[in-house]
Amino acid sequence: MDLLDKKHLLAPGPVPVPPRALLAMAKPVMHHRLPEFSAILEKIREDLRYLFQTKGDVLFFASSGTGAMEACVANLFSPGEKVIVVRGGKFGERWGELAETYGLEPVYIDVTWGEAVSPETVAQTLEENPDAKGVLIQAHETSTGVKHPVAEIAALTREKDVLLVVDAISALGVYPLPFDELGIDAMVAGSQKSLALPPGLSFVALSEKAWARAEAGKSPRYYFDFRREKKALAKQTTAFTPAVSLLYGLSEVLSRIREVGLETLFAHYARLSGACRAGVKALGLELFAKEPCEALTIVRVPEGVDGARLMKLMREKYRVTMAGGQAKLKGKVVRIAHLGYQGPLDVITALATLEMALNELGHSVELGAGVAAAQKYFLKEAQK
Ligand SMILES: *Cc1c(COP(=O)(O)O)cnc(C)c1O
Repeated sequence: MDLLDKKHLLAPGPVPVPPRALLAMAKPVMHHRLPEFSAILEKIREDLRYLFQTKGDVLFFASSGTGAMEACVANLFSPGEKVIVVRGGKFGERWGELAETYGLEPVYIDVTWGEAVSPETVAQTLEENPDAKGVLIQAHETSTGVKHPVAEIAALTREKDVLLVVDAISALGVYPLPFDELGIDAMVAGSQKSLALPPGLSFVALSEKAWARAEAGKSPRYYFDFRREKKALAKQTTAFTPAVSLLYGLSEVLSRIREVGLETLFAHYARLSGACRAGVKALGLELFAKEPCEALTIVRVPEGVDGARLMKLMREKYRVTMAGGQAKLKGKVVRIAHLGYQGPLDVITALATLEMALNELGHSVELGAGVAAAQKYFLKEAQK
């Protein structure tokens, strides 16, 4: 019964959706070739330019984020071309798998999970591979919580015939990644992370350099053909049936983002993640990422605690869904996301749950210590 079943979704996607967007998505479905729908599309296109900080078009597809990653590989590179893949977690591995699937020749930079790639390593790899056509990277690895130095890497690729392709699926709108200013060539996002929407929409912004490659690319593509989608957008429509209801929700979320402004959004995520890290440290627990991002906080499961049991206890007894570790981090970390429709008290919820569950599993931490540290952080921030 719902009355006894209050749930909290604190995983890095899908995320809680604000009521304003939920209500918008409950509206009757409109035919997508009507002029009224074109008007909605035009507004969305304009608002996406603001969010991505670009003058160019942002394409969107009815798919999860991985669809737009695949679209980048298929449109921007041709079989046999060399690409440098930064592999420091589950999603870096995905770039590599996509590149191999499309017959590219990935050159891997393997980074220890929990650490960021160094710009020097990327510079050296570019030097050793002058024929490389692209660098594929995450803004941050959602599997490790680590932020990569995208701005520094963009400075390396900007003047070269190399495309910088950034997976910002859980980063767009969380901290600054000004697309045009940095000179990124392709940047991917997804609806169910920082955009506070249900899963099902993916996005990609493209530079002029990237568009030239998309025009000349020799890999097969059909639904995800950038050229086809660009032509359709120029006629104020989409090539195929768009996810109409999700776009209603997107329109609401983007309006709200424009109302508050990007700076406010970035400050919000910095505050939530800052308070969460303070709470984790106060509990004597260890943060996993050396260079943590603001989208999520990753905590090492303390020695002697069964990670799977911890997640299950939090989910079943307290109805709080955080995420466990992926692949080789399974059972070893807890991932607390700050993404989507969340506020300070969601951080408090996460810390309070962790405190109770750890004690129940025999790892004693002082009840309220993490919560108090986060509260103090919020109070101090409020005075600024
Ligand atoms: C979630 C995520 C993905 C995968 O996105 P899907 O929407 O599940 O396809 C890829 N990269 C990063 C960095 C992510 O956070």
